[in-house]
Amino acid sequence: MKDTIENLNAVFTRQRKACLVEPYPELAQRKRELQAVRVALQRYQDRLSEAMSEDFGRRSEFECKMLDVMFPALQVDHALSNLKSWMKPQGRLTDWMFITNRAKVVYQPKGVVGVIAAWNFPIVEAVGPMIMALAAGNRVMIKMSEYSPRSTVVLREMLAEIFQEDLVAVFGGGVDLAQAFASLPLDHIVFTGSPTVGKEIMRAAAANLTPVTLELGGKSPAIVARSASIQAAARSIAHGKAFNAGQACVAPDYALVPSVLMNEFVAATVSAFQRMYPDPVNDANYTSIASDRHADRARELLADAVAKGAKVTSCGPGDGKRIITMQVVTGVTSDMRIMQEELFNPILPVVACDSLDEGIGYITARPRPLALYYFGKDADEIQRLTRDVHSGGMTINDWAWHVFQGDLPFGGSGNSGIGSWRGPEGFRELSHSKSVLTMNRWFPVHLFRPPYGTRIQRLVSKVFLGNADPALSIAECTTATDAV
Ligand code: NAD
Repeated sequence: MKDTIENLNAVFTRQRKACLVEPYPELAQRKRELQAVRVALQRYQDRLSEAMSEDFGRRSEFECKMLDVMFPALQVDHALSNLKSWMKPQGRLTDWMFITNRAKVVYQPKGVVGVIAAWNFPIVEAVGPMIMALAAGNRVMIKMSEYSPRSTVVLREMLAEIFQEDLVAVFGGGVDLAQAFASLPLDHIVFTGSPTVGKEIMRAAAANLTPVTLELGGKSPAIVARSASIQAAARSIAHGKAFNAGQACVAPDYALVPSVLMNEFVAATVSAFQRMYPDPVNDANYTSIASDRHADRARELLADAVAKGAKVTSCGPGDGKRIITMQVVTGVTSDMRIMQEELFNPILPVVACDSLDEGIGYITARPRPLALYYFGKDADEIQRLTRDVHSGGMTINDWAWHVFQGDLPFGGSGNSGIGSWRGPEGFRELSHSKSVLTMNRWFPVHLFRPPYGTRIQRLVSKVFLGNADPALSIAECTTATDAV
């Protein structure tokens, strides 16, 4: 397939036409499609992970398979187990006045769903939304990142083996093609990437009133409370920073740690990293930074922090190129770039924070994060963070595992995203929830037609709205509601 704008438009037209021919794929067909994806993932696991590794320069085979291949395979299993109930039209209660009629919601396929993937988990970010879009009965066009060309080739081959292009099509190409892609009059766009480009996507989608799901990033904090096991928290946070070399949207971006525990935490984090990766430069399971540009940026961020007074504790030497080990930064201030930009690398700023109030103040003064992590045992603190602080999702006493639950939605809040393509919420997001009201023949609808002012109309108005009594008191009404 050619990665040209002409071809993009041609495939879109074909998919749209195919939607008209087959607007509502039945359960059995959707299941067949999902099963085909499951088998293809299993068959292509080695080729996919080799391609991803080549795109990165070096990427852990285990992490490639676990996250980019096994995770969508499990998503298929979850969808297969739940699809029947997700698709089932849902009966709803009618309003009292319409009690003799029937109301329901039908989950209708939206049509052609466009998926734009980032490079950091290129397969799961393409295949994950595709699986849910197919489950919801849609057709799918995928635009891969310009940073993952080899993964694009293998994914395209894999999907072309099981699907016609008018059902699923994969595009590579550069940002110009991505812009043309986002400007297509798609029926929904699922975008994974940065908040900056997310705004571009929303602007392009607005021209067609195309609804969007934006899976964005941000600075996800890890709060280490006094009640935490410092060793366990450090092990988990070091894992989060080392996994994919920190190039994960839900990686703990920075840690908030009580001043008195700071030294212990830094030492525990460094030793946790060194235990996992005693020889990171020669360890094929330690992933490299995906491009020279991203590696240079990491070094610039560190230099900026040091110039502004920070202290860096390195977990060991890298190769001076794209292997960068975890770098723990203390003496952090808000004017440093490491506290202003999403890191997306193995730099871990550790900020002194001596109370939960201080931590909440710090987090809420900044854009809403994609994930929030709490390490500790204090139930009140957990409840406050759960209810009072906005974040896309949350794991307590570890990092990221909430993302791996098939039945939970995964998405951001505010700057970290809009909507979710996962779980039952994802099925609904990629479906149109159509309200259907069936009027019974003997429902006396004619009574509500003009000429107005009949006795029955006046009666209905009086029963359901009452008189415009100037003595009505809002205060009394709210007091009565509070009492209930
Ligand atoms: P990016 O925003 O630079 O690019 C994402 C995709 O958008 C790429 O495919 C790119 O080709 C395309 N693109 C770039 N400019 C475009 C434009 N003007 N119009 C249309 N498309 C355009 O992001 P990235 O560097 O690939 O990925 C890193 C970001 O993604 C981080 O912020 C990270 O947190 C975020 N991310 C979020 C999730 C999530 O699920 N929430 C997952 C992974 C990554």
